[in-house]
Amino acid sequence: MIMCSDLSKWHGIERAAIEWGPAIDEDKCVGCGLCVVQCSERRNVFGYDETKRKAIVLYPNNCMVGCNNCQVACLWDAITFPSPSELKKPARDLVDSGVVRRELEERLRRNPNLVMELPSSLIKKICEDQVGTCH
Ligand code: SF4
Ligand code: SF4
Repeated sequence: MIMCSDLSKWHGIERAAIEWGPAIDEDKCVGCGLCVVQCSERRNVFGYDETKRKAIVLYPNNCMVGCNNCQVACLWDAITFPSPSELKKPARDLVDSGVVRRELEERLRRNPNLVMELPSSLIKKICEDQVGTCH
C-alpha cells in the first residue's frame, strides 16, 4: 500500500497497526464525489472510478485516526468506519506513556497564543470552591 511517509505513524504508533479508515457501500454510493474533495489532498484517502462513477477507498491508512468527516458529509450514508472503541486502547497507551503530555507541552511552547490565562476572578472562585486546599 502506498502511504505518505509522514503519515505512517500516529503519535509514534505504526499507523498500519490501528484499525481506522473508511469503507464505502458501493450500492449506496451515487458517485457525487464529495468524500473525495472533503478529504485533504495531503491524505487523499479516496480515488474515483470514472467507469463505475463511484468513489473508492485507495489508501485507508492515510486516514487521520479519529476523523470521520467524510462519513458525516456523505448525504447517502454510504461511508462507514470501525467503532471508535477501537481507538481507546492506543489512545490510552499514548496518554499513559506521557507521549501526549510531551506533545502538548511542545505544541503550547510553539503556540503560546493557545495558552489560556485564567482571569483572577475565576481563580478566586476556584479557591473559594476548594476551601482548605488553596492558600
Ligand atoms: S460522498 Fe458518499 S455518495 Fe458521494 S461519492 Fe462519496 S461515498 Fe459516494
Ligand atoms: S475521515 Fe477524514 S481523513 Fe479519513 S478519509 Fe474521511 S475525510 Fe479523509
